[in-house]
Amino acid sequence: MTSPLSRWLHFFRNGIRTGEIVLRSGESNRRAFLTNTIRLTAGVAGLTVAGSALTAQADVTIQGNQGNWRFCTKCYGLFFYGYPTDGVCPAGGAHGMAGYNFILPHDVSETSTAQGNWRFCTKCFGMFFRGYPSDGRCPAGAGHDAAGYNFVLPHDVPATPTAQGNWRFCTKCFGMFFYGYPTNGVCAAGGAHGMAGYNFVLPHS
Ligand SMILES: [Zn+2]
Ligand SMILES: [Zn+2]
Ligand SMILES: [Zn+2]
Repeated sequence: MTSPLSRWLHFFRNGIRTGEIVLRSGESNRRAFLTNTIRLTAGVAGLTVAGSALTAQADVTIQGNQGNWRFCTKCYGLFFYGYPTDGVCPAGGAHGMAGYNFILPHDVSETSTAQGNWRFCTKCFGMFFRGYPSDGRCPAGAGHDAAGYNFVLPHDVPATPTAQGNWRFCTKCFGMFFYGYPTNGVCAAGGAHGMAGYNFVLPHS
């Protein structure tokens, strides 16, 4: 079920929501990279064009930025707001969004101030860190379940008017949550989130 085409279609759906998707045909061919940079303005037309590009490429890598990541006012977690439903919140029901529209880089190289292995969970719609042997605690039960992009998130850089700091890793649920309030939300592992590690600074519109 994870054929390149079906995986790509999953990416493509996410791409529609961000309004932009980039197909990269190879590091060595800058011209081809530029040629295959497609700004989606109409989903069906974009699919046709991009689908043709896909068949011409043996190995397609997609990189770019995905929007529609939001703060949840109930659990303080970061979740994807781009689907008709809003996942599962550890505070009960679905997540409830507010605030900035975070636009997050994915499938780019890690650096000393940008950590990869941050993933979308198909069960709770939250952002979690998949860099450990286990996958934390999902509010939908058991561990999180990763799919889609490999997000590479900036940390320990200055906050700006379009990048918010105080986002942290939770050692209990492995989720990303906002640490900028006096309390720390609701954790799927019980109680409030517990922060550790980098101070993530997330770009937003
Ligand atoms: Zn929530
Ligand atoms: Zn989850
Ligand atoms: Zn937690």
